[in-house]
Amino acid sequence: MTEALNANTGNHFTQYTRSFAEYWDDLVGWEARLAREGAFYNRHLHAHGAKQVIDIATGTGVNAVSLAQYGFEVTAVDGSENMLAKAQENAKSYGVKFAEAKAVDWLSLDETLGTERFDAAVCLGNSFTHLFDHEDRRTALRAIFRILRPGGMLIIDQRNYDAMLDQGYSSKHAFCYTGNNVDVGPVELHRSLAKFNYVFSDGARFELNMYPLRQDYLTHLLEDAGFVNVERYGDMRRPYDINEVDFVQQIAFRP
Ligand code: SAM
Repeated sequence: MTEALNANTGNHFTQYTRSFAEYWDDLVGWEARLAREGAFYNRHLHAHGAKQVIDIATGTGVNAVSLAQYGFEVTAVDGSENMLAKAQENAKSYGVKFAEAKAVDWLSLDETLGTERFDAAVCLGNSFTHLFDHEDRRTALRAIFRILRPGGMLIIDQRNYDAMLDQGYSSKHAFCYTGNNVDVGPVELHRSLAKFNYVFSDGARFELNMYPLRQDYLTHLLEDAGFVNVERYGDMRRPYDINEVDFVQQIAFRP
């Protein structure tokens, strides 16, 4: 079975079909992933005094569930009903409850959420890379900015596209997508497209088209949307060598 997911147009989250949602957790590898990153996000959100946290790219819930387990009041949002349904199933089996779960497109995040405001937002697992249009990225980040309370924090991560574009792809599979029974890699990689192939142990294949965001560009977008004091980490550490890390995390603040 092969599913080609997403052209560079239209609703970016419609590519997460029900069957891909069923396979997603094999790719994530919850246990190894949370062992690497769970404490990092908890520490930063906790140190910032966050209580109400919105995960705007919940997917099947790996971070939303983990943050709820740490005691945050988590609102789980995703554009894909399929992914969100799986996240709610996962929350139930881990014995946690989301404050709310809602299918929302980032582009209309603040309109859909109305007057709700949060202490922090997370957008993890290389999600922001789904937007292919510069103006859509600006619109989404301005919407995220508006749903945060003054002083609110945004944590956003991405694959290290700088190294992928400049040095070629090599991943230790140690961060973020840690599943062992899936072969992941780019089949096309250039300035405007990173097309990833996912081949699971039972032969199921999926493709995702993503935009290779460079870290400086994302920092620029964050500042353009009004965020300040942007901190960057490589594989959860700083300082870091951009040629050595798999993922880059950026933490930014609403003044
Ligand atoms: N954070 C999860 C994880 O790490 O496993 C999911 C990551 S997955 C790469 C990206 C998620 O972002 C998908 O669930 C997708 O539906 C969602 N997404 C992509 N574009 C979106 C948009 N414009 N609005 C809302 N959600 C979107």
